[in-house]
Amino acid sequence: MDTHNYEFSSKTDKPRRAWMSRYAEFHRRSITDREAFWAEQAQLIDWQQAPKQICDYSNPPFARWYVGGTTNLCHNAVDRHLKDRADQAALIYVSTETDEEKTYSFRELHAEVQRMAASLLELGVRSGDRVLIYMPMIAEAAFAMLACARIGAIHSVVFGGFASGSLASRIEDAEPKVVVSADAGSRGGKVVAYKPLLDEAIRLSKHKPAAALLVDRGLSPMDLTAGRDHLWGPLREKHLNTPVPCEWVDATHISYTLYTSGTTGKPKGVQRDTGGYAVALAASMKYIFEGKPGETYFSTSDIGWVVGHSYIVYGPLIAGMATIMYEGLPIRPDAGIWWQLVEKYKVSRMFSAPTAVRVLKKQDPAFLKKYDLSSLKALYLAGEPLDEPTAQWISQGLGVPIIDNYWQTETGWPILTIANGVEKAPSKFGSPGVPMYGYDVKLISESTGEELTGPDQKGVVAIEGPLPPGCMQTVWRDDARFVNTYWKSIPGKLVYSTFDWGIRDKDGYFFILGRTDDVINVAGHRLGTREIEECISGHPNVAEVAVVGVADQLKGQVAMAFAVAKDASGLTSDAARLKLEGEVMKLVDSQLGAVARPSRVFFVNLLPKTRSGKLLRRALQAVAEGRDPGDLTTMDDPAALQQVRELVGAAAKP
Ligand code: ATP
Ligand code: MG
Repeated sequence: MDTHNYEFSSKTDKPRRAWMSRYAEFHRRSITDREAFWAEQAQLIDWQQAPKQICDYSNPPFARWYVGGTTNLCHNAVDRHLKDRADQAALIYVSTETDEEKTYSFRELHAEVQRMAASLLELGVRSGDRVLIYMPMIAEAAFAMLACARIGAIHSVVFGGFASGSLASRIEDAEPKVVVSADAGSRGGKVVAYKPLLDEAIRLSKHKPAAALLVDRGLSPMDLTAGRDHLWGPLREKHLNTPVPCEWVDATHISYTLYTSGTTGKPKGVQRDTGGYAVALAASMKYIFEGKPGETYFSTSDIGWVVGHSYIVYGPLIAGMATIMYEGLPIRPDAGIWWQLVEKYKVSRMFSAPTAVRVLKKQDPAFLKKYDLSSLKALYLAGEPLDEPTAQWISQGLGVPIIDNYWQTETGWPILTIANGVEKAPSKFGSPGVPMYGYDVKLISESTGEELTGPDQKGVVAIEGPLPPGCMQTVWRDDARFVNTYWKSIPGKLVYSTFDWGIRDKDGYFFILGRTDDVINVAGHRLGTREIEECISGHPNVAEVAVVGVADQLKGQVAMAFAVAKDASGLTSDAARLKLEGEVMKLVDSQLGAVARPSRVFFVNLLPKTRSGKLLRRALQAVAEGRDPGDLTTMDDPAALQQVRELVGAAAKP
């Protein structure tokens, strides 16, 4: 096995045409011979009725995939495997919060999902009804998602870390018939009661769900509302042996709605279909993740995010793999816990986020060497830019390829990465890779709206319609918002905008430079905050950094940096902080030029992030400019902004 995927850096330029040929042809076919290509991929899943039409794009930008076909997501994830692997592991639930560990075989998962489905039916849920799932990372959360899919109900998972305000707005938008929840979650050993938050959210919401189905973990007492609240325990007992067959639904039937992370503003309700999604996931498991039946997949995400939907629950199970659902922190009981799980369950494919790797980077690196990781073949990282030092550190520590992949809640599966399952290809540091099959990726000039075809030109990353299978159908109940938000941002062109800014090199590799609203303009020079961050994170004592553009009377905007030191023990005096600040500025001067030099580099204990671990630059920028940071409902720890406020405030004093 090749242990290092980075065969060349972006600077060298050795021949690589040879490998590109097969994948390039694969990709070309997916665009120019779309129908035949996706008809072939449709064979990867089971259909009750074969599709009559592969793609209906008669009403752009709305794409309807596999029209006339009927299928079921739960059937493809669970029932389909009973024939060959009923007694193999399907769902491995591990909680370091409650010290529980339980493996469900496909047979057992099938039974649990039917019990949950029978309970939902008893509570009145029917095909097309919404079920909101507000759950910690426990096995029952996966049962609930699969049970919804089984009976054709539309699930809307809301991240368990959200408080009642965020939950209430999502209940109002989804109008669920039933909410599935639990008494509590737990984080870092601290119990977080969910039930009072749910009660408050229902009180706040104009829409009132008819029923709540509650898992009692024995962590926190629950006040039950008579007539509305039902406990999972007794309902499960009642339906121990109630068979619930899969409901065959149209390929275009809505499987779920899910909100984006809210990094740039109010979250958008992404709506997904059934058939296209199942095919897209099956194909990605084959060509991108290379997961084999019987192997174990471990994604450290949460079911509240799109990665949790695609690559904790549906993708691995559709591929016949066992999937780990982990409730706990990456550093508790110690920073070896993930690797201990990799050893124990012989994980072959792992999926995480750069932010989580940066957390580990602050811990003792010996943990990376403590366990037998010989089963592990690759680590996939997504969600935010992967800086080169972090990629190097984890790649060398684990001795496996690190595969950056770029996508969005909207797309459901990677837009840019490397499809080693089609053809082995080298990665480049800092680049998530090349356009995946099905995605006709374009770079569009922000100023002229023209397509940029040459190498090394910066533009907005856009996708020519139709979006491939698995991508969003529309914004839930708001077709106009779907069209206006995503397809109308480039004047005169109907093209999907990712709102990310990128560049393509001469080998066709893309580099994501940041969000379109993260571009800063210093005295007429347009700079991506990402470039400056990438440079600063190369300093040996910088663990993490965020750069924002701050209004400046002279230059229009200047860059301002907020960094977390790897070792802050020496930063107790102003002099020490200024010295490090000076070093960072010098580094930027030497690598990017003085124009990119931040006006200030502040050292903070933590950066403001969404609950999904993404930098909240807009909030950081607002506070740095002394403005109101706006909607902070998706923010993780408010203390992060408070420190920024104090530092900037103190610096502004004469
Ligand atoms: P919102 O759209 O509500 O502001 P969000 O964009 O953070 O929230 P997600 O769909 O979770 O919501 O995140 C997708 C975004 O994350 C991408 O558009 C991109 O900005 C960033 N991203 C994801 N993967 C990568 C990656 N591998 N490299 C760089 N950026 C990435
Ligand atoms: Mg987004």
